Amino acid sequence: MTQKANTASPSLITTILTSIPGEAAITRIEYEGPRIALFSKNPTFLLRNNQIISELVNTLRKRVVVRTDESIRKNEEEARAIVAESIPPEAGATNIFFDRALGELTLEVRRPDLLNSAGVDVVTLTERTGWKVRLRKAPHIPSNTMQHIYYALAAASEERTSFYRDVGERVFRPRLFRDEEVGIFTLGGFREVGRSCLLVVTKESKILLDCGIKPGASSPSDTYPRLDWAEIFLDELDAVVISHPHLDHVGFLPVLYKYGYKGPVYCTEPTLPMMVLLFLDYVKVAAGEGRPPLYDNRDIREVIRHTITLPYGMVTDITSDVKLVLNNAGHILGSATVHLHVGDGAHNIVYTGDYKFAKTRLLESASWNYPRVETLITESTYGAKEDIMPPREEVELSFVQTLNETLRNGGKVLIPVPAVGRAQEIMLVLDEYMRNGTLMEAPIFVDGMLNEATAIHIAHADYLGREIRERILYGDSNPFLSEYFTVVEHTEQRDEVLEQGPAIIMATSGMLEGGPALHYFGALAPDPKNKIVFVSYQVPGTRGRRVLDGSTTISLPSQDGKIQLVEVKAPVTRIEGFSGHSDYNQIIKFVARLKPKLQRVIVNHGERRKVDNVANAISRIFHVNTLAPDIQELVRLY
Ligand code: ZN
Repeated sequence: MTQKANTASPSLITTILTSIPGEAAITRIEYEGPRIALFSKNPTFLLRNNQIISELVNTLRKRVVVRTDESIRKNEEEARAIVAESIPPEAGATNIFFDRALGELTLEVRRPDLLNSAGVDVVTLTERTGWKVRLRKAPHIPSNTMQHIYYALAAASEERTSFYRDVGERVFRPRLFRDEEVGIFTLGGFREVGRSCLLVVTKESKILLDCGIKPGASSPSDTYPRLDWAEIFLDELDAVVISHPHLDHVGFLPVLYKYGYKGPVYCTEPTLPMMVLLFLDYVKVAAGEGRPPLYDNRDIREVIRHTITLPYGMVTDITSDVKLVLNNAGHILGSATVHLHVGDGAHNIVYTGDYKFAKTRLLESASWNYPRVETLITESTYGAKEDIMPPREEVELSFVQTLNETLRNGGKVLIPVPAVGRAQEIMLVLDEYMRNGTLMEAPIFVDGMLNEATAIHIAHADYLGREIRERILYGDSNPFLSEYFTVVEHTEQRDEVLEQGPAIIMATSGMLEGGPALHYFGALAPDPKNKIVFVSYQVPGTRGRRVLDGSTTISLPSQDGKIQLVEVKAPVTRIEGFSGHSDYNQIIKFVARLKPKLQRVIVNHGERRKVDNVANAISRIFHVNTLAPDIQELVRLY
């Protein structure tokens, strides 16, 4: 074993060593990205007496993590055998991943709730294996995306070790300036929906918030964030923070690595697999259509290796003068509002990303109790006066009613769904109403990328709303595994699905631009007995929008490369109100909660009319300085 020197500063090391009992057997203290890692030969002592670490965190005001010293880590084969012996068979250990860069062992278990009764927990497993053990709920179908991430991480252990150290040295360097000027450069997603991106600049740091693309835009200068205008070099950037994995917030991220960005990306834990799922699909689709992709799998691997995930609510230094906290945004799994605390507290910025200020079946309502906020940057997607959504129950009942009509007539319903977010909410609705008898019993076929997204939801159930989380983690009433759902695993199965009687088919993509939804659409649309039900917004120019607008003939690509014309005789409807965004009322209610300390509100992420409406309303109701900047503007915060 090579002897590695401590990288942390001498005074930091002295403080740590004097406040930790010798029993902890600390061998090394290192920066690990935004954390300070304590390597110990007796990690269970620190894990069992966790007040020692929490006191240390209070003294240092920095994040601290316990790591196991390399000398006590069993080799992977031995560790595997120990885990197999320790886990009761009924708990069902399905997968183990060794992260050598962090000394972590991630264990996927079907029934984590059964471990305690067998006297096993993460601390005992850490003691036995010498690896820091993390538990994860195993999904019903193995997630290819998570496997892809494990491989990408494992193949770059050494680079990642030095990456974490470099990031730490940059984060924990002493501050040079004391004054706290902040500027916000608007690079995308201002007075428009798409390519969300803004750059926060202080005397010490440059931080990019989101990095999206605008699908359907006509030219590159309208499609991508205007990083060129801000004249920043990618190696000057300290960090990128991603609010959530929708393409309009994250689609440009791999391009940053392609062009040489080498710094960290911060996001929540579920955001990583969800964005990787979208990136891999993008590359695959581009290859299938024979167009050159913006980025390739190599760039996606770089994203994976440079991502540092943070739990909700954890205060984390990301540069010498900025602390970051991610909080629940209620929009999709793992979506976050971004809270930046600049300098010694002169500025607190909350960037909402996309948020829902109301509880849904899947998620809790967006967090609102920030200790301080002076500048709020809020989205306004549904910010027009008429964008008031009916109560969820009404929405659900009219959805169920329209499904019943078709099923009773012996028809089939196709619900095209986006893979990430809406699909899982709809699954919960279908299961609930079929179980209580309101929705006619019929098989529900689930096809496409949404199955992979559901697996990621199950593996990260701790990020879901309280009720659904309990159902997944404890007991056996996981609604995603309901007997009503049948996962379509092979393309040959699709014809069997179509031969059935009345049925509900959920398939990607949500706007009929690709995926298995096209196959079902081609088969079901010509028969007036069937129905097409959209549950998400249809972007102008997409096939879904043409269908919704009443086109009677729709062209589909067919396998032999020819164009197939389909007559649409099945009725088409759109159910409004399943949105993961706040409507006008919810935006105003959210601002009202923050009101006392606000100095300024910046409105973004909406069509011009909606941005203006939200900005005017906030200024009128709350008497607070409100801005609705265009892209390519610099907003100075004093
Ligand atoms: Zn979104």
